[in-house]
Amino acid sequence: MPTHLVWFRADLRVHDNLALAAACHNPGVRVIALFIATPAQWQQHHMAPRQAALLNACLNSLQQSLAEKGIPLLYREVDDFAACVQVLAQICASEQVSHLFYNSQYEFNERQRDGAVEKALPNVSCQRFDDSVMLAPGSVMTGNHEMYKVFTPFKNAFLRRLKEKLPECVAAPCSRKGTRPIAKPIILNYPQQPFDEQLFPIDEKSVIARLRHFCQQQAAEYEQQRDFPAIEGTSRLSAALAIGALSPRQCLHHLLAEQPQALDGGSGAVWLNELIWREFYRHLMMFHPALCKHKPFIPWTDKVQWQENQQQLEAWQKGSTGFPIVDAAMRQLNSTGWMHNRLRMIVASFLVKDLLIDWRCGERYFISQLIDGDLAANNGGWQWAASTGTDAVPYFRIFNPTTQGERFDARGEFIRRWLPELQAVPEKHLHQPWAWADKQGLRLDYPRPIVDHKQTRAATLAAYEAARKA
Ligand code: FAD
Repeated sequence: MPTHLVWFRADLRVHDNLALAAACHNPGVRVIALFIATPAQWQQHHMAPRQAALLNACLNSLQQSLAEKGIPLLYREVDDFAACVQVLAQICASEQVSHLFYNSQYEFNERQRDGAVEKALPNVSCQRFDDSVMLAPGSVMTGNHEMYKVFTPFKNAFLRRLKEKLPECVAAPCSRKGTRPIAKPIILNYPQQPFDEQLFPIDEKSVIARLRHFCQQQAAEYEQQRDFPAIEGTSRLSAALAIGALSPRQCLHHLLAEQPQALDGGSGAVWLNELIWREFYRHLMMFHPALCKHKPFIPWTDKVQWQENQQQLEAWQKGSTGFPIVDAAMRQLNSTGWMHNRLRMIVASFLVKDLLIDWRCGERYFISQLIDGDLAANNGGWQWAASTGTDAVPYFRIFNPTTQGERFDARGEFIRRWLPELQAVPEKHLHQPWAWADKQGLRLDYPRPIVDHKQTRAATLAAYEAARKA
């Protein structure tokens, strides 16, 4: 009997999985699935133990769902991409695979690997799908057939394409005839850290329930609420999207079912806008593979003379900079593996423009902690904050961490949640607790600010200007 092999990577779901649906299209073929873990590479790229734990849990949930459909999931562990190619060649030979189905990954190394796989399997028909995006990279281009460098025209062209034809969601495959495979739990050989399954659900049903709830109850208010970290105003679906327990098409369809005006700028449009940022960074990575090697998009910014200050870097990482909004944010990250978007912008700006530390140190630290770590979005976010990326904030726009805190956590609710040592500080002094404590003649069990924002702002501007002229 012809055998179809589905190679799962960052697409751990049975619903709306383009490769899986195509592999199962013909009920007469045998379908098997495969996941290849690469712990040594994950280590090299600093994958967060919380993300590994989520991946492990979702992998087991996927294995169970596939088993219920009569599809066995094979599990292999290898050191590198070359070994990955060998494993695939062996499985294709031993299982007499006629067709290999997989969903594209757009990172540079992954694309190299996939090219090598296809070369190594001359007798297997390989089919790949653009599954982790709403629209395939290369399908939203300027009139000159170039990738957009600025988000707004990209978004406008993207919305036009969506209005012409909405990408469809495909159903989960039907159960296949024959015996049900036994699903033995998989244990990834990688350090893992517990995470909150209420916040980051692990089975598709719960992920969709969260999506539906957000689209029904919160998407309309998203524009007003999304900037305030004390409020649960965002979807918290980034982790599921990053490992593919959820697809962006599912997000789009649920959104439009509840907020039909979203495509025309009405209710829900701002959330759609964020999903399009996700697509923008993925498309960019395809056309500018140097981004995957952590090169800045704007070349002159590579000449900025960064400071090497281990002590300050560690203070930022631990959340003990003496700037309450920065510290509360970093402690949220360290404790949960997730950080609110407004805070990601504030702490990234602080590291780069107050401490003048290379944005790549922050990018790496984020990946080592984030449950939703994603190369394209993380790199895009860091390059935006560091003013080194496409459509980034201009280098002379520097957030003031104190006024950002006053603006987006005016009552200090978020700060109090994460900095219990500031409980006694009155609300209106929470953003500058030492100014208050000194006046009262009190000592706080909290660090004094490690830099003077005014001075570092001037030094940063000088460093960027020197790089620009060099
Ligand atoms: P929502 O506000 O509900 O947005 C819905 C979805 O849209 C998100 O789940 C996410 O998939 C996508 N999205 C939202 N904002 C962005 C954005 N600015 N860029 C790209 N996609 C976006 N996002 C990641 O998924 N992984 C990362 O590693 C990551 N690193 C970041 C680093 C920095 C310095 C910055 C500034 C942003 C980063 N982001 C990253 C983007 C954003 O902060 C998160 O996607 C968002 O906070 C996740 O929360 P949510 O699911 O509630 O998002």
